[in-house]
Amino acid sequence: MRLSGRVGRIQESATLRVARRALELKAQGVDLVDFGAGEPDFASPPCAVAAATHALQSGFTKYTAIAGIPELRQALAARYAREFGAPWGAAETLITVGGKGALFESALALFEEGQEVVTHTPTWVSFVEQIRFAGADVVEVPTDGAEGFAIRAEPIVNALTPRTRAVILNSPCNPTGGVIEPGDRRRIVEACAARDILVISDETYERFVYDGFAAGSAAELAAEYPETVVVVGSFSKTYAMTGWRLGYLLGPRELVDAACRIQGHATSNPTSFAMKGALAALEGAEADVEAMIAEYALRRDLLIPRLNALPGVCCAAPKGAFYAFPDVSACLGPRFATPTELAERLLEEEAVAIVAGEAFGSDRHVRISFACSRASLEEGMSRMARFFAKR
Ligand code: PLP
Repeated sequence: MRLSGRVGRIQESATLRVARRALELKAQGVDLVDFGAGEPDFASPPCAVAAATHALQSGFTKYTAIAGIPELRQALAARYAREFGAPWGAAETLITVGGKGALFESALALFEEGQEVVTHTPTWVSFVEQIRFAGADVVEVPTDGAEGFAIRAEPIVNALTPRTRAVILNSPCNPTGGVIEPGDRRRIVEACAARDILVISDETYERFVYDGFAAGSAAELAAEYPETVVVVGSFSKTYAMTGWRLGYLLGPRELVDAACRIQGHATSNPTSFAMKGALAALEGAEADVEAMIAEYALRRDLLIPRLNALPGVCCAAPKGAFYAFPDVSACLGPRFATPTELAERLLEEEAVAIVAGEAFGSDRHVRISFACSRASLEEGMSRMARFFAKR
């Protein structure tokens, strides 16, 4: 098969590969502990399920406007205006097929050969692949585990060149749990605005922050820098609605229109009745979200000390998201020389799925998702203790 050069530039999502192998083992009847998936174990909010069911039963099953149903666009724009003073209306708000859809359409609408896109690393796999797919070069700015992978302005601003088209920020960050302080975000946006560079802020994990950290949003700067700030969000994690495939893009009208044009030829509208469910979640699921945040905080507090008790493993408590990103470099050696080998052996020997850091650009770390029950965390950590004791 002669495939396009374009597709040759991207690789299979490493996180999805682990998920596939984990599914294979499960199908074989293996009692798997899955720390691999970035997927909440909670049920979707009942109000969302009821609204989507009602929409289905009442025949809301046709194509909608490509950009999504107007009332959801309006409700999202209103939320960003109310909470962050953002200037966007429904026309600057696009409903997409997952946050991934919003990012992908933005990449295709904005990036081209010869341009650079700056992001911080370790980073979520799809940013890198989408940038490459669009033809641009990725410029990775390291964040430091010793300072909790904080996303700092200075190294990002220093990485800007005349070729830079955009900076992608992801706070809280998948996989590191690192966050950006409002002052750093402002400095990056200011520097980018002065150079006609976009700042795409992926806020998929915005609600999952701990220890009283206020995540804020790049949307707070959108009124001041309307041509610079782009926000991407998702219903997947906040509302435990991964399978519904709904995300969104808010930003300059020209970009939203261009992304919508792409959407019109790629997917058309996101699923009609799912959007009705998302609207209900946005308007009525706050208590569900708060319960999930509280539960993630408890899981984090349970997991981190257990990780640090493993020989050679060092893990700071993540400030946000629902991943621990321990440094395992001190336990690499003859038994497993790389995080990938560690992850593979752990999966085969103890049926615990984790994701090797290489997937995110680190050869020192592994990612452990705590979007699973406390019982799974206990069981998985017992297995990991046994596995590490064997060295
Ligand atoms: N952004 C980040 C950083 C993610 O981790 C994910 C999913 O894992 C997404 C975006 C996209 O999520 P979805 O397409 O389910 O909305």
